[in-house]
Amino acid sequence: MLTDTDLQELAAIVGAENVSTRGPDLEAHAVDESCIPPHQPEVIVWPSTTEEVAAILRYANARRIPVSPWSGGSSLEGNPVPLEGGILLAMYRMNQVLEVREDDLQVVVQPGVIYDDLNKELRHLGMFFPPAPGSADVATIGGMVANNSSGMRAVKYGVTRDYVLKLTVVLPDGRILTLGGNAKKSTSGYDLVSLFVGSEGTLGVVTEITLRLLGLPEQVGVAVAVFDTLAQAADAIYECVRYGLDASALELLDAATVHATNVQQGLALRVAPTVFTEFHGSDTVVEEGLAFFREVCEDHGCADFQVATSPEERERLWSAREEAHESMKQSHPGCLMISGDVCVPISQFGKMIAFAHETSERFGLQIYAFGHAGDGNLHTEIIVRREDAEEMARGMRAGEAIVTYALELGGTIAGEHGVGYLKRQFLRQEHGNAVDVMRSIKALFDPNGIMNPGKILPPEE
Ligand SMILES: Cc1cc2nc3c(=O)[nH]c(=O)nc-3n(C[C@H](O)[C@H](O)[C@H](O)COP(=O)(O)OP(=O)(O)OC[C@H]3O[C@@H](n4cnc5c(N)ncnc54)[C@H](O)[C@@H]3O)c2cc1C
Repeated sequence: MLTDTDLQELAAIVGAENVSTRGPDLEAHAVDESCIPPHQPEVIVWPSTTEEVAAILRYANARRIPVSPWSGGSSLEGNPVPLEGGILLAMYRMNQVLEVREDDLQVVVQPGVIYDDLNKELRHLGMFFPPAPGSADVATIGGMVANNSSGMRAVKYGVTRDYVLKLTVVLPDGRILTLGGNAKKSTSGYDLVSLFVGSEGTLGVVTEITLRLLGLPEQVGVAVAVFDTLAQAADAIYECVRYGLDASALELLDAATVHATNVQQGLALRVAPTVFTEFHGSDTVVEEGLAFFREVCEDHGCADFQVATSPEERERLWSAREEAHESMKQSHPGCLMISGDVCVPISQFGKMIAFAHETSERFGLQIYAFGHAGDGNLHTEIIVRREDAEEMARGMRAGEAIVTYALELGGTIAGEHGVGYLKRQFLRQEHGNAVDVMRSIKALFDPNGIMNPGKILPPEE
């Protein structure tokens, strides 16, 4: 329990106006976009500088007060939720683009910068930061770094980790470290940048990020291919990847997801398994990519094929994919969605998505299946009624079955959303005794266990 003295000390660090114990503030930071029950922090603190973060952590560490960093709050696994109360470190005020190093294609940002805002700012310079999470309008660069997020463009451009060159981080004891550098490559020392990327706020707080950028593509082309069966769609995707199709996005929606987007977004797509693809490059590269994609799809019985190169047409075709999550949510008011995010080797993707549908039948639950198919990354949304405890428990079991099957196929429990609270029970199944080494790393950085407790690592067996 925080005392009045704690609150006064925190106010002395950041100013009283940047500390709140007001009910609505605590409520607004009690749960992310996941299905876990809310856990309120005891206080919200809004730091503005690295030094303030250092002073807050030093104080919290001495008093053993839990600290949970929170950026956009858009996680799907309970990642920023303050399970043990304590301080919620809200990073919104640290939202400046500090420097665009145009000559080196690099940008230096504070963690609270929103992904879409950064790319808007970079666009007029002809550059972009590619990962493109589905939550691009709320996800912050700090949250993306902490979760090692990716998204629709990972199939061509990779994940957040591939773009992080340099970090300023604050350790729980208040030490400020600069990790990495501005050189494109380095073999100097242990790679602590990579360790911090994906550590979900459990090792320290990121306060400054230098990202590598890419030049914007000259041309963009989009195509949508509709199939009669999911197996045909999955086979076409496999063949595209197997034969080196260089798509910048290769996404699959099952028929139920297409139906939800039709209803919620007023679209009139055929209700059938649908593959969305995008190509970046010169006119010739885009044309050749689209032609190759069409050929593969037709070889696999594609029933309908549409192409768009004008921005308006592209937006119209792509909107079904972009609005998929929101459409499912709106289709089931009052229900909870249990999100899944497994990723399997590409040759196993067809089996994985078929298993998700079998699971839906076996457990008698609506399960939407869609995702970044070109990466073998399958998202599922299991729909359960909030007030029905039995249905909720069945939904959790269905989610476990999907995760377990992904591991059997040589996949991972978390393709891009992180482990957070909801997936930590599977960590040992995936990593075996490497979990003990992860625990030792955590203890080295955070011996008092104040940083985002209850996340990633399962409780001690
Ligand atoms: C509709 C929807 C679509 C989504 N699509 C995708 C997708 O395509 N790809 C994808 O990867 N994810 C996706 N997500 C999940 C989520 O949006 C991303 O993981 C996102 O990057 C989280 O960013 P955030 O700013 O909201 O971080 P938060 O949720 O606030 O925090 C994420 C984690 O980072 C930690 N953290 C935050 N700031 C810091 C910091 N400064 N230092 C250290 N730790 C910190 C938090 O403690 C937490 O563990 C989606 C979510 C939704 C709701």
